[in-house]
Amino acid sequence: MMDIRELYQEVIMDHNRNPRNHHEMTNVSCQARGFNPLCGDQLTVYLHIENNIVDDISFLGCGCAISQASASLMTEALKGKSVSDVQALFERFHTMLTNDMDTFPVGDMDKLMVLAGVREFPMRVKCATLAWHTLDAALKKNNTLVTTE
Ligand code: ZN
Repeated sequence: MMDIRELYQEVIMDHNRNPRNHHEMTNVSCQARGFNPLCGDQLTVYLHIENNIVDDISFLGCGCAISQASASLMTEALKGKSVSDVQALFERFHTMLTNDMDTFPVGDMDKLMVLAGVREFPMRVKCATLAWHTLDAALKKNNTLVTTE
């Protein structure tokens, strides 16, 4: 039997090797750039929003496996969601990575839970949350560069 950690690791490596929605988008409603100076991770998140629904989302970036896999997982999880659902998910994801919870929220979080293991590595939490902070900035139409510092 595969250890759950190994399974999570496998999902992260898969998303790092074959990132989903990894392309530039020209017809955007908003976009933002994020940078994590501690690790050197860079991301641009592109969003197309129609009737308050994220009908398309993509990213481009480079950096460590955690940062790229997190962005890839995020775009998969958010496509088709309403903007308010996206904000709620961001809150829960952030809580999952920064609080010491025994139980995780289920449902939408299922896939994102593969990143829960980074809680044990505080330096890596910034890698995992970079995509989400960048997304948050894009939604707030904050065009300045986001850094995790
Ligand atoms: Zn990183």
